[in-house]
Amino acid sequence: MENKNKNEKPILQIKNVSKRFTSKGVCVRAVTDVSFDIMKGETIGIVGESGCGKTTLGRCIVRAHQASEGQVIYQTADGREVDFIALDKAEMKKVRKEIQMIFQDPYSSLDPRMTVLDIIKEPLLANYPKMPKSEMEDRVMDIAKKVGLNTSYLKRYPHAFSGGQRQRIGIARALVLEPRVIVCDEAVSALDVSIQAQVINLLKDLQEDMGLTYIFISHDLSVVEHISDRVGVMYLGKMVEYAETEELFAHPKHPYTEALLSAVPVADPTVKIERIPLMGEIPNPANPPSGCYFHGRCRYCKQICENQAPAFERIGNDHFAACHLAKELNLSSAFTRDIEK
Ligand code: SF4
Repeated sequence: MENKNKNEKPILQIKNVSKRFTSKGVCVRAVTDVSFDIMKGETIGIVGESGCGKTTLGRCIVRAHQASEGQVIYQTADGREVDFIALDKAEMKKVRKEIQMIFQDPYSSLDPRMTVLDIIKEPLLANYPKMPKSEMEDRVMDIAKKVGLNTSYLKRYPHAFSGGQRQRIGIARALVLEPRVIVCDEAVSALDVSIQAQVINLLKDLQEDMGLTYIFISHDLSVVEHISDRVGVMYLGKMVEYAETEELFAHPKHPYTEALLSAVPVADPTVKIERIPLMGEIPNPANPPSGCYFHGRCRYCKQICENQAPAFERIGNDHFAACHLAKELNLSSAFTRDIEK
C-alpha cells in the first residue's frame, strides 16, 4: 500500500505478513497477508474485536513472534534498509533497540522484585553492558523525568505505584534505549478513563519531542481516533479497511467498520445513531468461513460474498477496503459531519 508522500520513504513497510500457529495438528491463521506502510513520526491505529489478530500482528512486527511469511522492511537509524524479521542474531542485536513495545498490563509486565530504577535500567544493561554506571543512572533519571515520574521514588517497587504511574514506568523502560518505533499494545486499556487521557497525551508529547513512530493497537475506537493519523481495521486475521483517520471515521467503506463505529459512545444526547449489532461470534480462525470471512455477520451479504473472498483494494484516495460492495454501499457513521439531529 503506497503513501501520499511519494518523496519520503516509509520508516516501516509491513509486506504480506502472515502468522500461523499449529497445535495438535490444527493450524490457526492468526494473521493473513497484512500489508501497510508507516511514515516516520506517524501513528497508525490498528483496531478490531479481541481475537482479530491485531496483537499477533504487533508481536510479529517487533519479532516477539516469528512471522510465518512476509517482510517488515525497516529504515534503520544509520540509513540502511533491512528486513527486521529476517535479521540474523548479530544484526538483530544492533537494530533491536530501535523498535520497542509497550504492553497492555503495566503490572504483570513489571518484575515485582525489582526496583523501578532497576526495571528502567535493565534494557541499558542488556544492550550497553560497558556503559559507566553513572551515565546509566543519568539516562534513567532523564527518561523518568520525561515520562512524569517522581525521581525520588525510583528506589521503590512497582506495587507502590498506581496503574497510570506503572504504565509510565513501562513507557520509560521502552524509551530508555531511544527507540524510533514503538508498538503500543492496548497500552491504555487497563487504565481509568481520566488516566487514559493523561497517558495518551504523554505519548503524543513524547512523539513530538523524540520524533517517535507509533503502531497503536486497541479495541477502543475513541482512543484510536484521538491518537492516530491512519487506521487499519482487522477482522479474523485480515486487514479489511485502511484509511486516514478522519476519512475512515466519517466515510467507512467496510460493513464491519460501520458496525464498530456505530458502537462508539457519542457524548451528545441529541445525536441519533443507529446501533448496528454484530450478529453472532467471530468465526473460529482454525476453520474460517468461505468467501468473505465477515459474510455470516454482515447485513449486506450477497451470494458472491459466500463464495468469493473480496480483494483488498483501493477504493478512494489512500482508502483501501476488502468488500465486494465497497464502491456501491453508502455506509453511515456517527462521525459524519452532516449527522442527523
Ligand atoms: Fe459484507 Fe459481502 Fe462486503 Fe463481506 S464482501 S463485508 S459479506 S458485503
